[in-house]
Amino acid sequence: MKSIVLICLSFLLIACINPEVKHKHNKSVLVVMAHPDDETWVSGTLAKLIDVGLTIVPIYITSGDRGTDRSGKGLSASFLAQEREIEALNAAKILGLSSPIFLRFPDGKVKSHVTAVSSKLELLKSQYNPLMTLTFDPLGITGNKDHQVASNITSKVFDNKVIYFSISETRANKFTEYAKNNGIDFKIKYPISDDAVIRKVDTADFSKHRVETMKQHKTQFVPQFIAVFSKFIEKQTQEEFVITDNETVKLFDKYISK
Ligand SMILES: [Zn+2]
Repeated sequence: MKSIVLICLSFLLIACINPEVKHKHNKSVLVVMAHPDDETWVSGTLAKLIDVGLTIVPIYITSGDRGTDRSGKGLSASFLAQEREIEALNAAKILGLSSPIFLRFPDGKVKSHVTAVSSKLELLKSQYNPLMTLTFDPLGITGNKDHQVASNITSKVFDNKVIYFSISETRANKFTEYAKNNGIDFKIKYPISDDAVIRKVDTADFSKHRVETMKQHKTQFVPQFIAVFSKFIEKQTQEEFVITDNETVKLFDKYISK
């Protein structure tokens, strides 16, 4: 009996000091984004990954202090950033994400902080040892510079074992069409060619989650725009991804096809 107890204690000790053993059953997924509200582009897939038992940790490099407040409160700078963090927290609750990690680098200036952002991500990588990591595709969907730099840094820190969320030309044109029909002039500036999409994820079961999540970002999305998004995702139920690493494709398929 004594020896059994000793063997069990030895295993426990090994598990405590050996990070590989410690993270053996790690089910964390990191999502590296530039601004609170960026999860809107990929919210259906995040909800789906939670549904299969994974833990999703959103990381926002900036808190969006340079954005425009469309809520009518007239917030700007640090006041806007505080409000946007609250909005991101509320969005995370609806989707079932973990509490967001806010790195609080200046909005619009991530390019000037590449080394510091990389160090923060390296630290989070070692803390979480994530199963998967998601970020924007290299063009950043809208062409926003912070999106692009976020993509670039994440690719380097995670050795390209990254799942990039993206929008194809076909889907971008559909969005423009829905917006136009609702009197909004909106164009997704940097869609990728349809052929470049590696995986499509059907998120039809999570449409309500997606709209409710978007509604939390009151400083960013006016009701008219949310109405367009609702109609868009009702008909365009898929989210699209680019993955360059074959092992990461297999991993994504393993969880997302469940
Ligand atoms: Zn953004």
